[in-house]
Amino acid sequence: ALTIGIVGLPNVGKSTLFNALTKNNVLAANYPFATIEPNVGVVPLPDPRLTRLAEIFGSERILPATVSFVDIAGIVKGASVGEGLGNKFLANIREADAICQVVRAFEDDDVVHVDGKVDPAGDIETIHTELILADLQTLEKAVPRLEKESKIKKDVRPAYDNAVAAQRVLEEGTTLYAGGAAAGVDLAAASSLGLLTTKPFIYVFNLDEDQLAESDLREKLRALVAPADAVFLNAKLEMDLMDMSDEEALELLQSFGAEESGLDQLARVGFHTLGLQTYLTAGPKESRAWTIRQGWTAPQAAGVIHTDFQKGFIKAEVVSFADLDELGSMASVKSAGKARLEGKDYVMQDGDVVEFRHGG
Ligand code: GDP
Repeated sequence: ALTIGIVGLPNVGKSTLFNALTKNNVLAANYPFATIEPNVGVVPLPDPRLTRLAEIFGSERILPATVSFVDIAGIVKGASVGEGLGNKFLANIREADAICQVVRAFEDDDVVHVDGKVDPAGDIETIHTELILADLQTLEKAVPRLEKESKIKKDVRPAYDNAVAAQRVLEEGTTLYAGGAAAGVDLAAASSLGLLTTKPFIYVFNLDEDQLAESDLREKLRALVAPADAVFLNAKLEMDLMDMSDEEALELLQSFGAEESGLDQLARVGFHTLGLQTYLTAGPKESRAWTIRQGWTAPQAAGVIHTDFQKGFIKAEVVSFADLDELGSMASVKSAGKARLEGKDYVMQDGDVVEFRHGG
């Protein structure tokens, strides 16, 4: 499964957030195929459509999609040159599919800041710089090698040009995710060279409770990282929310002017950043969301349930959640002529409720 690596400087609230994330593992442990590791937090993707489907189909249980977060300890200044846990840190980042930086915005004299002051912009730059330096080191070896190869083999030339373009972006202090596309860098090709800053970034700003509703502050912080996504939360509050009933949690959140928890927002943003989407299945046993990549066809989607479903794919019977929600039953959707039989080239759409027909 795709994972999001959580990074951050010491004392920004990373462990606190991660503890809140891993409290969800109890839920994930009910998953048939899930293996839970101690440094992985599996968070359900909130999806009210599943509740409605369970009502329509009388499902015994609901299984939402999940997003996995990995705790990547050990970033400090100098990580790129192997200081501290540097090498292990870089290896862990390499394995993650997206990078989520926790950034401290809360003020608390009892919690020491590694650089002596609360400075979100500076903290973001510190981490970017380590990753950029690591990428520049990678390119220091790759560029001369590609240059040599491109003199022998003409078709290596684009890879060489791409590496040089990436180097230029990085030398300006910009990550490839933020500045690569605009400079004409092929991010997929750069990623295959092992360049870390091609990975999507998301930012979690850890705010104090009384900062949560400060929209000016939020906009200022959001502007620091735009167009990357930002989530605002209070890590301690997220921990507390995990111990409450849904009703109690919502009441507390609303008292801070929020409609959903920071973890729910993070799950949604993370899922989207990874380029994922879901389709839905429903029946008396369960209503369930299945994770696929955006753009996948019906047979690929079927393969997520079982590889045999993909191999023996015949048709997908598809109804849209909106129709089902409006008409209230599968029978009404069918008699209204709104059930579709889709073939192997059908590209899955968000909100598809599907039953696959497959041969043995
Ligand atoms: P880490 O080093 O980034 O993993 O940070 P921790 O999660 O261990 O947090 C460091 C300290 O900051 C702990 O004493 C936490 O209780 C405290 N802390 C974490 N989040 C917040 C917050 O949102 N507000 C305040 N005031 N303290 C926090």
